[in-house]
Amino acid sequence: MSLPFPLQQNPNPASPQRRAEILANPGFGKHFTDHMARAVWTADGGWANSEVVPFGPIPMHPAAAVLHYAQEIFEGMKAYRHADGSIWSFRPEANGERFARSARRLALPELPVADFMASTKALVSADAAWVPDEGEHSLYLRPFMFASEPFLGVRPAQEITYMVIACPVGSYFSGGVKPVSIWLSTQYTRAARGGTGEAKCGGNYAASLAPMIEAAAHGCEQVCFLDAAHGRYVEELGGMNLYFVTSDGRIITPELGTILEGVTRGSILILAKELGLEVEERPVEITEWQQGAADGTITEVFACGTGAVVTPVGRLVWDGGEVTAEKAGTEDSVTMRIRRQLVDIQYGRAADPYGWMTRLA
Ligand SMILES: *Cc1c(COP(=O)(O)O)cnc(C)c1O
Repeated sequence: MSLPFPLQQNPNPASPQRRAEILANPGFGKHFTDHMARAVWTADGGWANSEVVPFGPIPMHPAAAVLHYAQEIFEGMKAYRHADGSIWSFRPEANGERFARSARRLALPELPVADFMASTKALVSADAAWVPDEGEHSLYLRPFMFASEPFLGVRPAQEITYMVIACPVGSYFSGGVKPVSIWLSTQYTRAARGGTGEAKCGGNYAASLAPMIEAAAHGCEQVCFLDAAHGRYVEELGGMNLYFVTSDGRIITPELGTILEGVTRGSILILAKELGLEVEERPVEITEWQQGAADGTITEVFACGTGAVVTPVGRLVWDGGEVTAEKAGTEDSVTMRIRRQLVDIQYGRAADPYGWMTRLA
C-alpha cells in the first residue's frame, strides 16, 4: 500500500485566463501550478502527513538543517499530454529509483518508489489543466527532499520534508535548434570518486555556479567538467550527460562512476543500437574530443537530459583554444534523429516498444 495523497483543494487557484496566459508563454521554472504534494518523515514515525495542498511558501525554521548542511536531493521529470488528452511520463520509476539512491548517499530516508509515483500522480491529477497541449511544451515535475529538522548539530536530520512542485515549460528550442557552447573547466571539478557526483543533490549544483560564471566570461553557456583524479577524462556538464558520434558509426558516452546516471543517457544507449550505431561506454580523454573534433573523426557531440532532451554542442572552448562543429544540429544529424525518436515516444507519436511511458492521468 502506497501513501495516500488526498487533495486539499486550493481555494484561490489561478483564473483560467491567467493559466492560459502562462501556458502560452511558460518559460522555465518561473510559474507554478495551483498545488504541491508533501509528506513528512520523522525518525520515530516514518512517512506521514502525505497530502496534496495549495501551492505556497513553506514555513521554515532558521535552524532547519538543510539551510546549514545542504542535506537535500531532487529529481526532474516531465508530464506530456498526448493527442487524446491523456497525460504520461517518461520512465518515472527510473527517477523514483534514482531518488532512492540519492537519498542513501545523502543519509536521507528512502521514499518507496510506489510513494514517489503516488505523489506525482496525485499532483498531476489535481493540476491536469496545467499540462500544456501545445508543440513540445510539457509540465516539469520537481520532486525534492530536505532536512527540515531545526537542529545545528551535524548528523542526519530526524525530520525530513518531501515535496513535489510542478511548472509548465516551453519547448527548449522555440526558435529552432540552437547548438550550445561549452567551456572546459580545468580549475574546478564536479565530483570525485567517493563524493556525491552520482547523487542528484543541490550541493553539486552550488559547486557548479562559479565555473558557470567563468564559462560566461568566455562566451559559453555550459561547463564541461573533467575527472578530479587526473584532469584528463571527460565527465559531464553541470546538469547534462555527454555523447560523441564518430565518423565510423560509433556513439560514445563516458562510463558511470562519478557522473550522474541520466535517464536520457540510459535511454539513448538503447535507442542508438536501434539506429545501427555501435555503443561504447568508456573513459573519454579530453584530447580525444579536441583532436577528433578538429580532424573529423568525431562528427557530432551532444548533451542530454530531461530539460532539453538532446542538445547539439556547437563549440568547445578551453584556455588556449577551441573547436567548433559547423553542422551541429542539422536535420539529418545523428543528434537530431535521436532527439526526434525520443520526443516522438514521449508525446505518443511513436510506438513505445520498451514500455517507457507511464500514464499519470
Ligand atoms: C539530472 C542530471 C542529468 C540528466 O539526467 P536525466 O535523468 O537525463 O534528466 C545529468 N547530469 C546531472 C549532473 C544531472 O543533475
